[in-house]
Amino acid sequence: MRTVNGSEIKKLAFQSGFDLCGITSPEVIPEARSRYRRWLDHGCHGEMTWLADNFERRTDPGLLMEGARSVIMLGLNYFQPNEESVPEGHGRVSRYARGRDYHKVITRKTKVLLKRINRAVGEGFEHKWFVDFGPMLERSYAAKAGLGFIGKNSMLINGQFGSWIFLSEIVTNLELEADDPGAADHGACGDCRLCIEACPTGAIVGDSIVKSTKCISYLTIERPSRLKKGFARQMNEKIFGCDICQEVCPLNNKAVTTGHREFLPSKGVGEFVDARKVLAFTSREEFLGLTAGTPLTRPKLEGLQRNARIVLENAKAGTRDRDLGDDS
Ligand code: SF4
Repeated sequence: MRTVNGSEIKKLAFQSGFDLCGITSPEVIPEARSRYRRWLDHGCHGEMTWLADNFERRTDPGLLMEGARSVIMLGLNYFQPNEESVPEGHGRVSRYARGRDYHKVITRKTKVLLKRINRAVGEGFEHKWFVDFGPMLERSYAAKAGLGFIGKNSMLINGQFGSWIFLSEIVTNLELEADDPGAADHGACGDCRLCIEACPTGAIVGDSIVKSTKCISYLTIERPSRLKKGFARQMNEKIFGCDICQEVCPLNNKAVTTGHREFLPSKGVGEFVDARKVLAFTSREEFLGLTAGTPLTRPKLEGLQRNARIVLENAKAGTRDRDLGDDS
């Protein structure tokens, strides 16, 4: 196996279409591990029970692959601007979900990168790769690889792209020099609390901990069996996902529109979904006609219809409030 260095790997990552690449070691990050323990102990994972499985494996990338020596962290910018108003009878989709399913896009780019690394190092290159369904605390490893820092909203914040980034990672037996974790640290949040104050359901409970059970993103996507009434009203026009804690973040001011066409609205469901049309679906085929190949398959037909119903009820309630002169 030929020896390669981190710069060569990064060059190959950028050639394969990634916007960010950093390298770190697979060692346990004690603070990340204890934060994750606290998050689980407080039941913040809600009905995503699988996140409590295999705690050791999830918090120790060295256990993911025998002979792991390095973790290559990768990032893709998905930012895109919002239209100001929502068309009547429609719900808004979170930015990350408007185009093609990012798992598929990342998988394709990762396979290209792995082929290139293979060609560069020859026989003996071993690896395992993961996109966010994988068992890794990827934001913590991205921060350790110098790609940014974790904000109070628990997102990784990068100096160039802000927090509008998809992360993925390759655990490998290549011995690569680790990046300096401080290299991309543009200063942590400081006294800022904008995301905490802006979250309509109070889901950000401090120390970069987000309670999924209160997070609109989780509530609209993971389709928990019960949804508290107050939360439904707070969803407002959101039919899938929520971007509020990122929209208010001043460190996202310089975000640039993604250059990856796959993530653009024209490649998927778009920014708005017709809630009445969703409610009219009577079969899985109709549902897939709209959502196949996009993240909107996740809540299944029942979940998306529940969200569509809430969006229409919220629009009606909003009009009623305005008619009554209540602008609170
Ligand atoms: Fe940090 Fe403020 Fe951004 Fe929240 S809004 S992540 S507190 S900088």
